[in-house]
Amino acid sequence: MRIVFLGPPGAGKGTQAKFLERNYAACQVSTGDILREAVQAQTSLGRQAAQYMARGELVPDELVVSLVGERIRQPDCRNGFILDGFPRTIAQASGLEAILQNMGAALDCVFNLRVPDAILIQRLTGRRACSRCAALYHLAFSPPQREGICDRCHGNLYQREDDREETIQARLNVYKTQTAPLIDLYRRKGLLKEIDGVGSMEEIRDRIIKAVNEVRA
Ligand code: AMP
Repeated sequence: MRIVFLGPPGAGKGTQAKFLERNYAACQVSTGDILREAVQAQTSLGRQAAQYMARGELVPDELVVSLVGERIRQPDCRNGFILDGFPRTIAQASGLEAILQNMGAALDCVFNLRVPDAILIQRLTGRRACSRCAALYHLAFSPPQREGICDRCHGNLYQREDDREETIQARLNVYKTQTAPLIDLYRRKGLLKEIDGVGSMEEIRDRIIKAVNEVRA
């Protein structure tokens, strides 16, 4: 399966992509996670990306397209991949198409997770991530057993710098102007499946399983 997850920040793309990875032998490729690791490791990519990310802006297309091109050619993506947070612009979608053509591959479907702004803001401000294993928590909806500590690996939990309220609004604006046009693009290609992203993690997961089964039928 080769899947793209579209949706605004906080729609649940990462959570649902991780679920598909565990259950459908496909590899989650999150450009946000790759970029955050690069920033932390202070690689050349990380140094170039850091300032954009801190402001909630998009990292330049050519950087992200080349990192995704390299990543999806790795052996662990041979059975399929779930692109989480990519493409985010029309130029990135064209870049992806060229990469896939070159690989003799094609997308199976594009899921668009729909969530109203008020819920996104609530989810993003309460979101915490593990600094060691990247597991996700929410202070109100899925809190860790011990405050600030990951249940799985006991790593420290942190709030992403770009999950602060001032930056969230910038990210939502970027989504509306630069990423939302991809919904129509993929609809025209006949690849789009709309998913209601409001509800519990399990309810949304069930909608996605149903959509995956329809694609595979
Ligand atoms: P995310 O974890 O997907 O919310 O991404 C966090 C930040 O990483 C975004 O606000 C961007 O600054 C950057 N980023 C992630 N994916 C992309 C992408 N496909 N294109 C450009 N910037 C990206």
